[in-house]
Amino acid sequence: MSTEKTEAIVIRSVAWSETSLIVTLFTRTHGKVSAVAKGARRLKSPFETSLDLLAKSYVVFIPKSNDTLDLLTEAKLIRRFRSGQRSLLALYCGYYLGELVFTFTENHLPIETLFEAMDRSLVKLDEMEDPAKIVLAFELEFLRVLGHLPSFELCAGCGNSVESGRNRSFLFGVDAGGVLCEHCLAGQHHVLRLEEETIHYFREATTAKQPDQVPIVPFAARGEVRLVMERFIAHLSDRRLRLMDFLEELKR
Ligand SMILES: [Zn+2]
Repeated sequence: MSTEKTEAIVIRSVAWSETSLIVTLFTRTHGKVSAVAKGARRLKSPFETSLDLLAKSYVVFIPKSNDTLDLLTEAKLIRRFRSGQRSLLALYCGYYLGELVFTFTENHLPIETLFEAMDRSLVKLDEMEDPAKIVLAFELEFLRVLGHLPSFELCAGCGNSVESGRNRSFLFGVDAGGVLCEHCLAGQHHVLRLEEETIHYFREATTAKQPDQVPIVPFAARGEVRLVMERFIAHLSDRRLRLMDFLEELKR
């Protein structure tokens, strides 16, 4: 059996037996990997701290065919996720990025740009950069890579450019995946009315050349920015992600 070596971020870990864990890794070269780590629950685990949640490690694993779990044979810590010791919010933000990757990516389907985006975001959380900006920049990158980035400039129904309507507000169709003109509003059930400032911010953020250049989320728009992301991502996954409930502070 061939072994694979790659860098990985630990996104989930559950007990498998008294001594073993099932870990879900987001790897650079194999995308999401679910593997058994034998002995990982022992007091003197051969994996030490390399399988802590959100740790980045070098891993060696043996891929198994069909639906069988892969087998993790080695893991060596590159970097711990330290934010949790300082800020509960940063910890939840890190878990949330992991939940996004866990929910939306397929096993053994490599998406290297996403691996790099997650890696970079965890470092920034550790450096105590503004979590609201880090989470949003990751979400936008994530949606772009998966081909689900909402349209904030052109109408999601007809493709015409959309200006703010009455009361200086925009209509955002959650199911439609973007702003809507008044003509395309008919028949849309799940529509949010948003302040002009929110859509202007999204337009700026989605045209940033690098995720680093996504501007700070203005305080007045924070509530609506989270609302759009929550509703849209819940729509894509058919359920509300568990960690979203822990990110309320990003709205303030
Ligand atoms: Zn339209």
